[in-house]
Amino acid sequence: MPRTDAVLADRRLVAAAGRLGRPLVKAAVVAAQQRARAGTIAPEEVAGAALAHLAELGPPRRVINATGVLLHTNLGRAPLSPSAARAVAAAAGATDVEFDLRTGTRGRRGRGALAALAAAVPGAEAVHIVNNNAAALVLAATALAAGREIVVSRGELVEIGDGFRIPDLLVSTGARLREVGTTNRTHLADYAAAIGPDTGFVLKVHPSNFRVEGFTGTVEVRELATLGVPVVADIGSGLLEREPLLPDEPDAATALRSGAALVTASGDKLLGGPQAGLLLGRRDLVERLRRHPLARALRVGKLTLAALEATLRDPAPPVTAALHADPQVLAKRAGALAATLRAAGVPATAVATRAAVGGGGAPGVTLPSGAVRLPAALAGPLRTAEPAVVGRVEDDGLLLDLRAVLPEEDAEIAAAVTALAAGRGHAAPAGTGGPGDPGGSAGLGARRKANRAAGPDGSGGLAGPDGSVGPEGPEGPEGADGADSASGANGRGGGMPGAHPQEYGGTAG
Ligand SMILES: *Cc1c(COP(=O)(O)O)cnc(C)c1O
Repeated sequence: MPRTDAVLADRRLVAAAGRLGRPLVKAAVVAAQQRARAGTIAPEEVAGAALAHLAELGPPRRVINATGVLLHTNLGRAPLSPSAARAVAAAAGATDVEFDLRTGTRGRRGRGALAALAAAVPGAEAVHIVNNNAAALVLAATALAAGREIVVSRGELVEIGDGFRIPDLLVSTGARLREVGTTNRTHLADYAAAIGPDTGFVLKVHPSNFRVEGFTGTVEVRELATLGVPVVADIGSGLLEREPLLPDEPDAATALRSGAALVTASGDKLLGGPQAGLLLGRRDLVERLRRHPLARALRVGKLTLAALEATLRDPAPPVTAALHADPQVLAKRAGALAATLRAAGVPATAVATRAAVGGGGAPGVTLPSGAVRLPAALAGPLRTAEPAVVGRVEDDGLLLDLRAVLPEEDAEIAAAVTALAAGRGHAAPAGTGGPGDPGGSAGLGARRKANRAAGPDGSGGLAGPDGSVGPEGPEGPEGADGADSASGANGRGGGMPGAHPQEYGGTAG
């Protein structure tokens, strides 16, 4: 049996102790030694078993998003801008979130974020911030339609992701749904016929994770606004104004100009900020929502408020930069990265690809991008590297798509891949591609074996049996046990990002 202090000196366990603290690491080693004594594992497997256990612990790890899906729900949707990250760090301690430092009295909670949001959408009389878009919808339904009816098109009864559905969410508030029209076509007359004294509001939901084509018809907010009842527009992705690159994606300013009484949206999709729900619109309605008892249960924390305000004041958060990235620059970066890797003996080629917005935005839209193609066997080991690098597997190769990768992360990808190829995986908690993974010290050959082990049972993380990651990847029941069910077996998500935009990303849902 290896001595405890000898095992603890293992470079990978030293790194784990830096991340998780020595007591946890020591406990994991002692537990692994017990398993070795019981004969469940071999004595030389103690360090690896302890590492595998420790990999499950600790806060979420940093991931380099090379999936080609800008807003990957399983990867936390929008990455924060450096200014938002700094704001979060500053707000982490005691902060003036609800205090006026000038007067020394209570201040309006989150006034900075509220002011930034109001300034970003001058067409809104008032604004409010809740936990996410789902919370914004629940608050609107509760405050404006509990015990009454919400009129909504049958073409907009959307499942967000992870089995959660907007109609169920609305009904859970005590509101009744008054469904109108059909799956493919709904007319203004359908809404008009359904409106009556019981109507709380008309709801317009952006079908942000699917497209209906062919014989279709929907009614625009502008027309709904003529019906004489409040129109609540769930625009989904949080664009505050028109984005020319995504002409079919609704935005808050246009919805309000068109007569929406209230707009709801997510903060962590195309707005590029933290998870949050934005409510914008008529002052009387926003005020009713804000003062409703449920509002207290949906309020956001100081970290969210700090990140949201910084995002709103930032000219180009990372998701915006990725959306607008020049395909030629991406191709150049891919070429340079592939050349670096080839020089290190890794079979890498630069290829042209198509990326997707994902995250419940711009379904069906693809963006020209550049990627580095590597042997598919690297998918698993890269996912468990530090930082993790998550790509997508296509045609038996691993594509590392650079559209959602920050330029300064290219060098980290090069380092991670060359380390694996040279047989020295960065393995802190890394070597945990699956049970029995020999750990980061193995070379590419052993890694290949580990990758096979990590694949189909999903223990390696997000990707499916083939290591592919869908636009939303697994969420919830289907996906929690590994992406296999999400991207592979049932055909969700795998392959071309955006090809199966199933979920809002939200959570994708
Ligand atoms: C994403 C999305 C939601 C859910 O938003 P969350 O912020 O994840 O709660 C609701 N409606 C639409 C149209 C969406 O796109």
